[in-house]
Amino acid sequence: MKRIVILGSTGSIGRNSLDVIEGLPDQFQIVGLSAGRNIDLLCEQAIRHRPSVVCVGDEEGAEVARGCLTPFGIQVTTGPEGLTGLSTHPDADLVLNALVGSVGLGPTLSAIRAGKTVAMANKEPLVMAGGILVREARQHGVDLFPLDSEPSALWQCLKGERIHEVKRLILTASGGPFFGWSLDRMKDISPEQALNHPTWRMGQKITVDSATLMNKGLEIIEARWLFDLPASCIDVVIHRQSIVHSLVEFVDGSVIAQMSCPDMRLPIQHALTYPDRLPTRVEPLNLLRLGQFTFEPPDMERFPGLRLCYEAARLEGTAPAVLNAANEVAVNQFLNGQIGFLDVAAVNEEVLSAHQGTPEPNIEEVLEADRWARGEAVRVIHRMNGRTTVRV
Ligand code: MG
Repeated sequence: MKRIVILGSTGSIGRNSLDVIEGLPDQFQIVGLSAGRNIDLLCEQAIRHRPSVVCVGDEEGAEVARGCLTPFGIQVTTGPEGLTGLSTHPDADLVLNALVGSVGLGPTLSAIRAGKTVAMANKEPLVMAGGILVREARQHGVDLFPLDSEPSALWQCLKGERIHEVKRLILTASGGPFFGWSLDRMKDISPEQALNHPTWRMGQKITVDSATLMNKGLEIIEARWLFDLPASCIDVVIHRQSIVHSLVEFVDGSVIAQMSCPDMRLPIQHALTYPDRLPTRVEPLNLLRLGQFTFEPPDMERFPGLRLCYEAARLEGTAPAVLNAANEVAVNQFLNGQIGFLDVAAVNEEVLSAHQGTPEPNIEEVLEADRWARGEAVRVIHRMNGRTTVRV
């Protein structure tokens, strides 16, 4: 029986993970859960799965959660200390990180240092500090498993293979809701439009990142660290059907792809049951009903996020952390109606090009670069808005 902590259990990945775990009740035991603000759902999950501890975002939420969970003997903690407590819990074998954004860095590092296997849905920590996390994982003899569909596909294609025999990793991207739109039309994209993804139901941040293709760019940096290959060996192709989740090309010209119906429960279960494969509730792939597969090049002019991620990956050091932080601020401001859709990439580009990078940073230098980039992004946005006369 594997004992699991889920960080971010009320989000889309967290809910799918609990669904996987319910489907395999004699394989797993839930030790801890965490949620930011969705206390009602967290309490419901906790009463069902009976972890020993849950963590919530703040004291206000904790009071509600205590009222609900104390009768069941479930402890309630809060904030970053609570998350660290969960990610280092002595009873946990595996920490599933389904947090959103840079907030996941601290708990990931703590989990690695405590010797826990970490399944990562939260790509930002690897983008910010991939070199550090991979090095610490090696030092502590800890496995870092990808949980997102594309890096999981690469992982599955690479099973039993030798990395020096790999020529290229090929990440597929659905292309998002604005694939094929003209730049002119893209200027007026609203948050509501950006939040309507054609294939996947996900949280707001990653859905906007998918629409700008920034998500795919962050996956390039994530894959760079997970599989120890330079970003120049990682390609992106647009595959609208989201059936081929990624591919690996080997030096002999052979290409191996991983396919399935688009359903997050498959890559989640793969990370949870690895190295075993067990039956899932995922709809089987019917090749005869699929019709056609299409593959197209991404457009880096209309989706500059992808180009910026390649640039940050090439620069390494603190550059990926800076790009990631600028993007978190810009996406937030886009969702708040403060900047337009195309401004997200413009902010990211300006912050990245103003950055004086530090090579091979330690964790403090990464966090300092992250803070600097957030301040810089806010300054760029203020200046943009001062310049624009019609902005509601
Ligand atoms: Mg993905």
